[in-house]
Amino acid sequence: CAVFGVYAPGQDVAKLSYFGLYALQHRGQESAGIATFNSNGVRLHKDMGLVARVFDEETLLQLPGNIAVGHTRYSTTGSSLVANAQPVVIPTRLGSLALAHNGNLVNAPQLKKCLEEDNYEFFSSTDSEMIAVAISQEVDSGKDWLEGAISAFNRCQGAYSLVIGTPKGLMGVRDPHGIRPLVIGVLADNPQHYVLASETAGLDIIGAEYVRDVEPGEIVWITEDGLASYHWSEKPEPKLCVFEMIYFSRPDSMVNNESLYSYRLRLGQQLAKESYVEADSVIPVPDSGVPAAIGFSHQSGITFEEGLIKNRYVGRTFIQPTQSMRESGIRMKLNPLKDVISGKRIIMVDDSIVRGTTSRKIVQALRDAGATEVHMRISSPPVTHPCFYGIDTDNQDQLIAATKSVEEIAEKIGVDSLAYLSWEGMLKATGEDPDHFCSACFTGDYPIEIPDQVKQSKLL
Ligand code: 5GP
Ligand code: SF4
Ligand code: MG
Repeated sequence: CAVFGVYAPGQDVAKLSYFGLYALQHRGQESAGIATFNSNGVRLHKDMGLVARVFDEETLLQLPGNIAVGHTRYSTTGSSLVANAQPVVIPTRLGSLALAHNGNLVNAPQLKKCLEEDNYEFFSSTDSEMIAVAISQEVDSGKDWLEGAISAFNRCQGAYSLVIGTPKGLMGVRDPHGIRPLVIGVLADNPQHYVLASETAGLDIIGAEYVRDVEPGEIVWITEDGLASYHWSEKPEPKLCVFEMIYFSRPDSMVNNESLYSYRLRLGQQLAKESYVEADSVIPVPDSGVPAAIGFSHQSGITFEEGLIKNRYVGRTFIQPTQSMRESGIRMKLNPLKDVISGKRIIMVDDSIVRGTTSRKIVQALRDAGATEVHMRISSPPVTHPCFYGIDTDNQDQLIAATKSVEEIAEKIGVDSLAYLSWEGMLKATGEDPDHFCSACFTGDYPIEIPDQVKQSKLL
């Protein structure tokens, strides 16, 4: 999912949010929503579909305010229904709050039970509503926004980057592990006007200047007094999702003062060092495989070529929630360039293999187009474990590398050779302490403990 927020009295906060969400559309394509606050209370518009479908000039005009909260969704918990679209808006003693969530709670079943004991009836099936309800209950018991939010976060375990709007101000929050990203920016024409976004690409589109990340275990509370920071967690332990780095975030988003494009180039270079093979052309699986393929080509000296043309109007296949939708989506998506591929030994580079269904089809398409050899190179290690922290990499039984060796996968997808990047190579390329990342889908070493009941639902 994508989260977005603006604090900018006197500006068109709904329109700014619209553009911010537009830049973050890749993070979720099921539903979109914006809530705005002014002295008359809160307004909300949300619906199923892409940002550009959900909003038009008319609907944006119905969203006046000084503060806005936006969200795009793909489901990791709860089904693909409009009731589950965000922001979640609920009333409290101090006025309504609007909450946008990226991530996934691992203690949702327990938390839900507790909240229901207080006679609350849920209208959605999302963990995001639970966080909003937990805050409202704390506020209704007499706490102010900040105390109430901190008490509520102490009841939440898992991954959550949140943007929360209230009549008083805008809040940005990251869980103590900072699994999902969240950045702070200021509008170019007024440094007192703040923006919160899942990625820096959401700032660039509205000309906002990047200030810094919200830190793991930090709350930023933006009111008429400016931005105040609270480190609410006793033991913050940075564990940014490495999948954000290798695949999920946009290549033009910045992490640690560097674009993810540059990081992905290095992954490709490292991959070529680890698993060079003789061939005539390096081709990417577009778009996500492009930077790594360029890096592979630079390092190996083998010509980079486009061999697969993508229809840009078909969404990221994996974001659509069902397997049958996924499979029909894939056929629409990529078309091989026969005259480029025919008679050649091809190295095909992609960022990841998850289920193996896309890869198998692409390899077949390359063979049909006349490739004499197809060598697949993957710029991340085998995905062997499911994610419980908000990326839809599916249950373990769907992950091809959970039960098959690299040789067996190579055979299954029909390549002449297959090699993955090493785990060490992936983390070394970050230039940072490997301990500062979650890489559990490659290792099974989950940094936030997962209750057995939840674990069993996804593990083999
Ligand atoms: P596969 O061969 O596993 O079906 O698909 C791998 C390709 O699709 C890669 O290009 C990757 O970018 C994308 N992909 C497919 N499914 C998923 C998924 O569930 N999560 C992620 N992160 N990427 C996926
Ligand atoms: Fe990211 Fe994988 Fe960790 Fe999930 S398990 S947060 S996808 S690194
Ligand atoms: Mg891809």
